[in-house]
Amino acid sequence: MTTPPKSHLFYQSRLRRPMLDQARGVYMWDLDGKRYLDGSSGAMVCNIGHSNEHVLEAMRRQMEKSTFGYRLHFETEPAERLAEKTAALAPDGMDKVFFVSGGSEAVESAIKLARQNAIALGEAQRWKVISRQPSYHGSTLGALALTGYAPLSAAFDPMMRPMPKIPAPRAYLDHLDASDEATGHHYADMLEARIRDEGPETVLAFIVEPVGGASTGALVPPAGYMRRIREICTKYGVLLIHDEVMSGGGRTGKFFAAEHWDVAPDILAISKGFAAGYVPLGAMVAKNEIVENVLDTGGFLHGYTYAGNPLACAAGVAVLDEIERENLMENATTVGAELKAGLNALMERYEIIGDVRGLGLFLAFELVCDRDTLEPLPRELNAYNALVDIAYDKGLIIYSRRTRGGYDGDHFLVCPPMISTSAHVGEILDTLDASLREFQETTVN
Ligand code: PLP
Repeated sequence: MTTPPKSHLFYQSRLRRPMLDQARGVYMWDLDGKRYLDGSSGAMVCNIGHSNEHVLEAMRRQMEKSTFGYRLHFETEPAERLAEKTAALAPDGMDKVFFVSGGSEAVESAIKLARQNAIALGEAQRWKVISRQPSYHGSTLGALALTGYAPLSAAFDPMMRPMPKIPAPRAYLDHLDASDEATGHHYADMLEARIRDEGPETVLAFIVEPVGGASTGALVPPAGYMRRIREICTKYGVLLIHDEVMSGGGRTGKFFAAEHWDVAPDILAISKGFAAGYVPLGAMVAKNEIVENVLDTGGFLHGYTYAGNPLACAAGVAVLDEIERENLMENATTVGAELKAGLNALMERYEIIGDVRGLGLFLAFELVCDRDTLEPLPRELNAYNALVDIAYDKGLIIYSRRTRGGYDGDHFLVCPPMISTSAHVGEILDTLDASLREFQETTVN
């Protein structure tokens, strides 16, 4: 047993896993020497794999120079370089980068910048941020108010200002053709209806995960959806915020997932794959005029002590360099196609797989009771934990959730690092196959 019998640590639950010893590439080892394939890149974080020597070397070099420079006292070269690189990756006209230490902070920053922009424009009556159900935007109270996932938010409802929600597109559950633009427009038009109901003059922003993360399990929007959403936001003067905390960083095959639909937001949030787990880092990127409006009218009333930390930014620069040097986004597309084909092949053999979805190496499958009705497995089966535990025992890490709100369903994210090879894909699929077989034999029957 590698977990200490008594620990002073606590997290969300009493779940305790073995002690991590080391991690290299796509593999991790516990203190007993057992090897695991990191099939979810942690929580869709370690996009370039573990212990990358170029990133470690860049961090060592920066550590020898300085590890902290408070922003009221110094500018730092790593922060300047990372901001320049990030702006170059962002859509045209989004050249302003604000560093934070994680996804929730990036989302908080986006909402507060949007709000101050409205005030600067003399539109202080705009404060509502519409989001989707289900969705996940973070655990701090501001980001949680936007999160459409009641198990996490309900306890805190009295402490938060309720924010309007519209349903996330669920074409596969509604038996609609996701490749038909009419389907995308059907779901996007729910946003227009909601803006009108709320009173357009009160709506500040709409926040959307371009490819859904843990909340929906790699939900890819139907054709026409993202573009229509952009048009509606522009029509009503509502700022469009893309939460690319999980979908950004390259694993869909593009650095920002919204590039797949050639749509640009007004503000975006990024974290996770941005520094790939080497350090806590995130950023909010905004249109130049929004930032100018806010800075011209008293400044941005927001900030964090560790924003732009030089060590974190040096790691971020090295991660972006590595993605480019090793063509990891191209690899995510190629290897992702192999993995998706393999998951589809598993779906042909296992009736309980109701859907396989995702882009690049941002992939998921969903378990159901009945493939035709897509009725979820009974909640008592606790399938989302059971299958993860079986795979874990066999040395494969995957990430799961039971979606709530709109529909109930167990989905499993299969998102190995972007350095994965065909051999790794084979190993993942073989272990999943064995795990699904055992799950069927021991849990479903
Ligand atoms: N937004 C999205 C889409 C996420 O997936 C997450 C985390 O999973 C967050 C925000 C919050 O990020 P963090 O946990 O780093 O605060």
